[in-house]
Parts: sequence; structure tokens; C-alpha cells
Amino acid sequence: MRVPCVVPFCKRTGPQKWNDHEYTEIICGDHWRMISMETRKNKLSAYRKYFATCRDLEVIEAKNDGLTTEQIELYNSVRAEAETSWLKCKAQAIERAGGIS
Ligand SMILES: [Zn+2]
Repeated sequence: MRVPCVVPFCKRTGPQKWNDHEYTEIICGDHWRMISMETRKNKLSAYRKYFATCRDLEVIEAKNDGLTTEQIELYNSVRAEAETSWLKCKAQAIERAGGIS
């Protein structure tokens, strides 16, 4: 299954699964390049941190048969950070794509 680009009227799609992660929306290469370098970098590092935390916590969870409140809070905060960084990319891609399709 292919996932559509978040930019309205953009006909491009991307793979649903990438880097072992499932996506429900993507930003295609053309629109990705319209986003500022800083916003892109921020998104990449937030996701890297999120994936690394997920991996760490999975190991801890399997070993300790559960997570502490602090670990769950850590997960929630890196996840929120990743989501926020994605929303910023999305907003910028849509804004900058205005008029171009
Ligand atoms: Zn697009």
C-alpha cells in the first residue's frame, strides 16, 4: 500500500513502511526539499531519538516485565517531540507548496 503526500493535490505517494516504521502520511521528495534545513534536521534528530528510545525501552520492558513511570514519561516526551517536529514539517511543506502543485 502507498501513502499519499500530505500536501493537498500532490499526487505523489510513498511506501507505508520505511525504516521499520509504519507511516500513515508522508511528505514526498519534492515537497520535503521545500522545508527549511533546520526544520528537516530537527525532525530527523527527533525521530532518531524516538526510535532509539523505543528500542531501548523494548529491551528494558522485556527484561523487567514492564516499565517504570519515568520510562513511560520518557517515551511519551520523545514521542511528542517527534510528532511536533513532523507537524512543523507538514505545515511548512503545505505552506510553501501554496500555488504549486
Ligand atoms: Zn508532495
